[in-house]
Amino acid sequence: MDKEELKECMYYSTIENNKVQCDLCPKNCIISENKTGICNTRINLNGKLYSLTYEKPISISVDPIEKKPIFRFHPEENILSIGTIGCNFKCKFCQNFDISQSKAIEYYDKIKTVSAEEIIRIAKEKNLKLIAFTYTEPTIFYEYMLDIAKLAKKERIELLRQIGVPLQKNNKEEKLS
Ligand code: SF4
Repeated sequence: MDKEELKECMYYSTIENNKVQCDLCPKNCIISENKTGICNTRINLNGKLYSLTYEKPISISVDPIEKKPIFRFHPEENILSIGTIGCNFKCKFCQNFDISQSKAIEYYDKIKTVSAEEIIRIAKEKNLKLIAFTYTEPTIFYEYMLDIAKLAKKERIELLRQIGVPLQKNNKEEKLS
């Protein structure tokens, strides 16, 4: 893992002793140097917080939209589904626990980098007008999701974000669509 390649997180502050406080989700983790937050996806390197899931999808699949499950939104259409490793929840019933409870740092070099542009290209190639951020809690790959959302808007691709928690109030200025 090359630190220079990592994406700096958007919402955090550096506090005493080079610790950082992540402000992205309500967990508000305080993270010491070389450690990650509860979601196992955001690492403190020298007092700066970096995302270990930016452009690192563990899964890109085409699903029937009913699998999401959505009943009245574009029924019978397919949707491009994207998720990364990690989660800010520890649900005992999680059906994706093998990816949600894994540590992103252990897989970082093994997972192929897929840019936001590439995600849009895949959607267009498959003639899909819908993208879902799913499988794990998408807040933990927020910066990646935001870049995809900005490009999707230009292409009139609609988005589905399957969330377990809202973003922190002070982060609402970044709209996903
Ligand atoms: S996004 Fe992750 S590191 Fe940030 S507050 Fe939530 S659980 Fe903690």
